[in-house]
Amino acid sequence: DCHISRGALQLNGLRFAYENGRDVLSDISLQIAPGAFVGIVGHTGSGKSTLLSLLLRFYRPQAGEILIDGQDLALIPDTAFRAAIGLVPQEPYLMAASARENIAMGRDISEAEIIAAARAARVHDLLAGLPQGYDTLLGEGGARVSSGQKQLIAMARALAGAPRILFLDEATSNIDSATERLITEALRELHGRVTVVAIAHRLSTIREANQIVVLNHGRLAERGDHEAL
Ligand code: ATP
Ligand code: MG
Repeated sequence: DCHISRGALQLNGLRFAYENGRDVLSDISLQIAPGAFVGIVGHTGSGKSTLLSLLLRFYRPQAGEILIDGQDLALIPDTAFRAAIGLVPQEPYLMAASARENIAMGRDISEAEIIAAARAARVHDLLAGLPQGYDTLLGEGGARVSSGQKQLIAMARALAGAPRILFLDEATSNIDSATERLITEALRELHGRVTVVAIAHRLSTIREANQIVVLNHGRLAERGDHEAL
């Protein structure tokens, strides 16, 4: 009963306000083709993370609808939704556990799949190069990893679940340019296979996006590709 097979997203006239607040998102309409790479940019407070929370079902819009593969997001069963979605949060949480366990997260995932996901996330070399390789303890008391590297590990974790749609909220803290390049490469490789919606603070992260939308005070201000902006 795979409810989400293609990973198409459609946002129709979304309006959202937090409880008792003014509208944070107004009249958001956007069509995202399966396998497309969409970048979201905008000033702080423009509503980027809020839009992502609606897509992740943390909140429900007051008006409008979100469709995944033509189905109302609100009606998709949790298990199907979770199986289809991958999230790379802005500040990923690493468990005090091995790198392997941090990717598998208790799911029944083979060693080969863990390594394939780490390779796809461009973090295999880093993990294989740790003192005990994939057995190295991460998280509290474990090996030190930068916030950019945490995002790559979180991407491996997300990709290990073979998502149809990947959401990424780029870390705001300083990411060194080498790690930045790895994130860009990993996203590029997903093109055509996994729908990617990436909130970016640096335009370089979404250089390869098919579509870049600019949020301005909760409204979609512009759309185009990297060249156009
Ligand atoms: P940033 O680039 O700083 O991450 P953003 O574009 O992600 O900003 P949001 O976090 O979506 O912006 O915030 C949009 C607006 O909604 C802001 O005015 C913010 O103060 C408000 N807001 C965000 N989260 C909440 C919340 N949980 N409750 C009430 N208001 C909120
Ligand atoms: Mg945000």
